[in-house]
Amino acid sequence: MSLVVMKFGGTSVEDPTAINRTAAIVAGRVAAGKQTVVVVSAMSKVTDQLLRAAAAAAQGDRTGALAISSRLRARHRDTACALIKTPADAAALCNLIEQKFDSLDEILRGLAAILELTPRISDLVVSYGERLSSRIIAAAFTERGTNAAHVDAREIIITDSQFGKAVPLDVLIEKRAAEHLRPLLDQGKVPVMGGFIAANEQNITTTLGRGGSDFTAALLGGALAADAIEIWTDVDGIMTSDPRVCPDALRVKVISFEEAAELAYFGAKVLHPATILPAVRKNIPVLVLNSKNPANEGTRIISIAPHCSSPFKSIAVKKKLSIIDVVASRMLMTHGYLKAIFDIFDKHQCPVDMVSTSEVSVSLTVDSNDKLPLIAADLSQLADVKYEGKKALVCLVGEDIRGQSGMAAQVFSAIKHVNVRMISQGASEINMSFMIDEEDADEAVRSLHAAFFKEPDPVVFDVESRKAVV
Ligand code: ASP
Ligand code: MG
Repeated sequence: MSLVVMKFGGTSVEDPTAINRTAAIVAGRVAAGKQTVVVVSAMSKVTDQLLRAAAAAAQGDRTGALAISSRLRARHRDTACALIKTPADAAALCNLIEQKFDSLDEILRGLAAILELTPRISDLVVSYGERLSSRIIAAAFTERGTNAAHVDAREIIITDSQFGKAVPLDVLIEKRAAEHLRPLLDQGKVPVMGGFIAANEQNITTTLGRGGSDFTAALLGGALAADAIEIWTDVDGIMTSDPRVCPDALRVKVISFEEAAELAYFGAKVLHPATILPAVRKNIPVLVLNSKNPANEGTRIISIAPHCSSPFKSIAVKKKLSIIDVVASRMLMTHGYLKAIFDIFDKHQCPVDMVSTSEVSVSLTVDSNDKLPLIAADLSQLADVKYEGKKALVCLVGEDIRGQSGMAAQVFSAIKHVNVRMISQGASEINMSFMIDEEDADEAVRSLHAAFFKEPDPVVFDVESRKAVV
């Protein structure tokens, strides 16, 4: 029997309407004879609000923190009441919700008393989002006739103790999944669990990092050797570019893991890059689907994508970047010079996106952030430093550019009118990126899209729906 892990993001469980839609999608998979494991995020925006409550409490704003918690309590209670009509089940669920919020309030009061928020307590506070959503959703499934079983994700997803971004322990996860999930599946049940939350071997709550529910789904898919992992979101899958910028963007029907991983960096909204790894290792396809448009086939992410007659699969843009030029005009670069530069970024815990070097200069790009003046001050001990914000990185991704000559010429002739600051082609050879002014970005994307998706390959791109729109 084929097994599918279905993950529903925050917008797919944001309110009773969304949860009903999700319940219907899951019921459809079960009716089709699939063994199904469901992973859910917290209801949309709840994670942010819990983090805000924790921060407020730790700054001494006890009233503010409790007010956030009280609004969340009402939202969860109202959602549960709207979904569960069987009186005994509704009472049990509401009781549970009240208990959970009582204990959350207890923690917030504690934070307001000690005025300190450790990563460990932050994980505990934020875990309430998924702990609550998974309970409500499991009850809603049961109410609608799906044989759901709530499972506390912290009993399955075991991690190390790096709170805030804990590293999963695969062997233990596999063991726990075999012990706890397999029997439920064999009894025809649908395990429903929260994504993102986990525990270390001492049962202390951890989390996998923001957006980590996709990661949970991939870990479970890997542990259970699932046939597919479905990531249900609120977009139709990976697109050839942002449809808000480029109205004739097309859905990419199939893409390789490697291409999707390159794009993930730009569109974390669609997919968490770490999702890719546990699935790639076991060769499990990942499907990105839209819970608001379930008939759409979404994007299928597989190990090796079929050959595509278009060189690129997608054009992505990352804005709000800064470029830093380090010029050692007084001396040629000496041994250890690059290391010294990178050590400074490391010291400020600032990830570097793109690097280009010449004999005497190094240009680096980073997300614009308030540490830049400090970084620049440190770098100026080594050389002359300039930095500039409001930059955008445009990135074209496609396996079929590997080994093709003349690609760069085609790309840059499509955007002749734009001033390009930095160019890079990663070692993966499937991405071509360049840096331009933010204000030129949308126009550049439209020009590139027009140039490279004139005759899209129908095997790879959803050409049909473009025809339908026109
Ligand atoms: N709720 C968590 C977050 O917002 C995890 C997730 O939704 O993937 O980051
Ligand atoms: Mg997400």
